[in-house]
Amino acid sequence: MPETLTTIYLTVDTELSSAHFRRHGGAGLQDNFESAILGRTSAGDFGILYQMDRLDAHGLKGVFFVDPLVALVAGSDMVRRIVHPILDAGHDVQLHAHTEWLGMAAHGPTDGRGGQNMADFSTADQVRILDYGMARLVEAGAPAPVAFRAGNYGANDDTLEALGRVGIRYDSSYSPDYEGSVCRISLDRDCALPVQRGRVVEVPVSAIAGPGGGHRHAQLTALSAREMIDALAHAALHRQPCFTIVSHSFELLCRQRRRPNRIVVRRFDRLCGIIAASPRLRAGTYAADPPEPVPQCAAQSAGTGQVGRLPHSLARSLLRVGEQAISNSLYGDQVGPLPAQAAAPAFAVRDRLIAPLQSLTPLQQIALDIMMAV
Ligand SMILES: [Zn+2]
Repeated sequence: MPETLTTIYLTVDTELSSAHFRRHGGAGLQDNFESAILGRTSAGDFGILYQMDRLDAHGLKGVFFVDPLVALVAGSDMVRRIVHPILDAGHDVQLHAHTEWLGMAAHGPTDGRGGQNMADFSTADQVRILDYGMARLVEAGAPAPVAFRAGNYGANDDTLEALGRVGIRYDSSYSPDYEGSVCRISLDRDCALPVQRGRVVEVPVSAIAGPGGGHRHAQLTALSAREMIDALAHAALHRQPCFTIVSHSFELLCRQRRRPNRIVVRRFDRLCGIIAASPRLRAGTYAADPPEPVPQCAAQSAGTGQVGRLPHSLARSLLRVGEQAISNSLYGDQVGPLPAQAAAPAFAVRDRLIAPLQSLTPLQQIALDIMMAV
């Protein structure tokens, strides 16, 4: 009997910044494209071209959820500029939609009616938005999309109905306990695996268990490398059919988007390396390796409430807090680059405090958890 592999969907939401457009308008579109899509900095490009380069180096395929609604303000050519390199490199292009673009153009599928999220629109409007987005992707040369993710995860049950009507079979907008989540899909929050909802298969963004029954979603910048690697190991060990990771075209940049965040750049590369090296994991696409719904998902989750997710570990959380503190101090909100000599002490502290924790065996880690819990 063939061994069950866990398919990793490495998803990259690929989008221009509507905030940048509000500030700089059409004159800033080229800058917007270079920053948000190419991830351009004075140290080089760290956007989708770089990310595809790293994926290719590890022999992996990524899923790029491209937002084509930007065509409303930037024209169809902008969508082509985004989509072509992805298609040329053989990665998956699927549909993403940030509905805030709709209110910025008088024409369009909703005749200028705006809304922050898909869930703000009627089912009929959502069908029009999806049709418009699909047409722009196909016009740009992409195959008809089979999967969708709402901008801000802002989908509701009507979105699933609308997806069914336009023939998109998979949705990956459900992200449990995302801080400030506007996701309105009524799904059991403990359901971590693909589940059939009407004509659509909902493929939740994966997560790990947090303290007190909460979750942290598997976004590149939300989990530490250790948490992500342990979550993948957990998924493989439990023979989960798939695991969905979220990232963005600009995710490897610091918050100001002026420099690469070297910690996240390393994390991305390490993640690719782990997936490529593991015989139990494979990176998949919706086009070639579509997820299968898991009928027993709801029944499984009824028992423990955490089936399908890596259990909470205080030691891992501490490692993340340490890693985030370093990352924020180096690549957070401060204006201008931090001089190298200023960064060095922070790295030294991290190495002294965190490195020993990272080399703990699983047994030692459990022991540390128990010690910290009592
Ligand atoms: Zn987005």
